[in-house]
Amino acid sequence: MEPMRPVIIAANWKMHTTPADAGRLALALADATAEPDVVRVICPPFVALAAVRDALTGRDVAVGAQNVHHATAGAYTGEIAAAMVAGLATWAIVGHSERRRDAGETDAQIGQKLRRCLEAGLRPILCVGEGLEDRDAGRAEAVVRDQLEGAWASFAAGSPGEVDHDAALATRLVIAYEPVWAIGTGRTARSADAAAIARVIRATLGGWGWPRGVAEAVPVLYGGSVTSATIDPFMAEPDLDGALVGGASLKVEEMAGIVARAALTARARRAAS
Ligand code: PEP
Repeated sequence: MEPMRPVIIAANWKMHTTPADAGRLALALADATAEPDVVRVICPPFVALAAVRDALTGRDVAVGAQNVHHATAGAYTGEIAAAMVAGLATWAIVGHSERRRDAGETDAQIGQKLRRCLEAGLRPILCVGEGLEDRDAGRAEAVVRDQLEGAWASFAAGSPGEVDHDAALATRLVIAYEPVWAIGTGRTARSADAAAIARVIRATLGGWGWPRGVAEAVPVLYGGSVTSATIDPFMAEPDLDGALVGGASLKVEEMAGIVARAALTARARRAAS
């Protein structure tokens, strides 16, 4: 039988909001999206994590960081370690394409970030996705597979002899498929193409030696210009389990529509299970 995966809507606020206004926005979003069938996560800038955490007390909305450093601690001026985020957040985005592009993050570092997340008790959302040239050249699947394998190789090599985090990764990992050309452009992927990549993702995870069925239970989200007007075809794909939302996640009305549509899928899946 197919595993019942959660439906997740994660908000990536990127470099928007201040500690002074983030709490208010988080509260408005939480109240406008109160759907018990959908797992909701808000990822504000680091400096607003405490304000958002405090504002969401008593609401069933998780808080996530937008990044963590690949090292546990050290001489990394201006960086934030996963352990510093623990207590402020319970999730973290890693490997977002804007960080791969702007900070030159490598798959090897991203694999280490996954390990740091698990050590700090954070649930990682690992972002993967191809650029337009690779999509046009028919290399999208290969790029995503390489990103996953690169991160896995470095994750698996990290800290042998310490606590074994493989089992934790298998049960806590969430993947966001975000084609780079769809992020912030107003252009979405075709839902069938995103679902095909989700199958490639689970097939790749299936080769990592995890217990049978575990890869099938990993939620795969779609990200890239999701709005209340564009989410429906993605939520209609059985291989996709929600969305990572950037620009639209700053708008209360938009998020209300997105989460309401995701809730329809979540309830339909529960009824069919
Ligand atoms: C993102 O930042 O992960 C994202 C998908 O952005 P947008 O929704 O604005 O395309």
